[in-house]
Amino acid sequence: MMPFGLANLAASPTATKVLPVLRRTAFAALCVVGVKVGLLIGGQGTATANPVLTAPPPVTASAASIVVTKDLDGDGWPDLARPVAHNVRGVDAYGSGAFGASRDGGRRAHRGVDLVAAAGEAVRSPISGTITRTGSAYGGQTNLQFVEITNPETRYKARVLYVNPGVATGSKVAAGDQIGTAQSLAARYAGITNHVHVEVKGRHGDLVNPGLVLPGLPGGGGRA
Ligand SMILES: [Zn+2]
Repeated sequence: MMPFGLANLAASPTATKVLPVLRRTAFAALCVVGVKVGLLIGGQGTATANPVLTAPPPVTASAASIVVTKDLDGDGWPDLARPVAHNVRGVDAYGSGAFGASRDGGRRAHRGVDLVAAAGEAVRSPISGTITRTGSAYGGQTNLQFVEITNPETRYKARVLYVNPGVATGSKVAAGDQIGTAQSLAARYAGITNHVHVEVKGRHGDLVNPGLVLPGLPGGGGRA
């Protein structure tokens, strides 16, 4: 695929700060995982698209720790990343944040995962691609926006809801680049666990469980 990171380096002053961290972190993570994979399956862990090559979950909420990425096509630039450091929203008065959880009294299933996030926290792109849309998640509620990222090369598509977008439509992002900040849901859902909603369509165009696809969220789409 096209090296989105290179485009970012040229276009975005913030990316120049983030990407060296991204690349160092990804390299370190792959080294660690590579050793584990090598031990487990005798050195067959070099395929870059192998889902086994996910990094271990971050243990702190620092900015650097959440930049756990995966390079799908081996071009050295991240294609999948964990948007925030926190795990999946558990059960609260409004339901569970797990993928497929019941919504609207069972009339529909939750299309993504809700990742716990504090208002104002940085939110990073779950996939590499181009920002294809931003807009309001709920009509007039303008502080709760969504960002859509599309990548015709990896064929992934993602939406992240309840953010204040920090990117313009048409700009390119590597997975792990900041796309906005989390917002407070308190005014709309009093008492809810504050979160961002992350939806991912995989290479076949179907909704996938982001908890199982994005690195650093082991079992994140669990059956809570
Ligand atoms: Zn949700």
